[in-house]
Amino acid sequence: MKIILLGPPGAGKGTIAKALMQHDGSVQISTGDILREAIAAGTELGKQVEAVMAAGDLVTDELIMEIMEQRLQQEDCKQGYLLDGFPRTIPQAEALKALLAKLGEKLDCALELDIPRDVIIDRLTTRRTCTNCGEIYNVKTKPPTVEGVCDVCGSQIVQRDDETEEAIENRLQVYNQLTAPLVAFYRDEGLLVSVPGSDIDSVMEAIRNRI
Ligand code: AMP
Repeated sequence: MKIILLGPPGAGKGTIAKALMQHDGSVQISTGDILREAIAAGTELGKQVEAVMAAGDLVTDELIMEIMEQRLQQEDCKQGYLLDGFPRTIPQAEALKALLAKLGEKLDCALELDIPRDVIIDRLTTRRTCTNCGEIYNVKTKPPTVEGVCDVCGSQIVQRDDETEEAIENRLQVYNQLTAPLVAFYRDEGLLVSVPGSDIDSVMEAIRNRI
């Protein structure tokens, strides 16, 4: 499958991507994870994007396209990919379209997870992430067995810099302004599949109906 996951931060794109990945061996590509890994490793790229990300703003389209142009040509993408957090602007969507045309590839669909704003804010402010393996927890619905310690790898669990209330408010504004227009873009392309909520069974059914 070649699918774009659309929806605001906290909509459940990562969780759905992981579930779909197990289904057919497609690879999850999260631009947010790629950038966070670069920050953790202290690379040039990481230094360049750290402050922008902490504030909840977007990294430039040029930088993201440079990363994705390389990533989408790697061997593991042949089986299919689930794009999580990319594209995030109309220029990125246009550039992706041109890149896929060049590579002779076609998307199966753009899957929109349509989630109410209050649910999003609650999810993001209660979300915690493992600093080492990236496992996601939630203080209300999925706490770790030992507070602050990852069940999977034993590393520290923290609230991400961009999951403070101020940064979340900004990320949602950025989403509404720059990313939400992608829903109309992919509707016009005839690729949009919209699912209310992020329940994996409803998502699977919507994808099956489409593909
Ligand atoms: P995410 O984990 O997808 O919520 O992404 C976290 C942060 O990484 C975003 O708030 C942006 O600062 C940056 N980011 C991730 N993907 C993109 C993208 N496609 N375009 C621009 N910035 C991005």
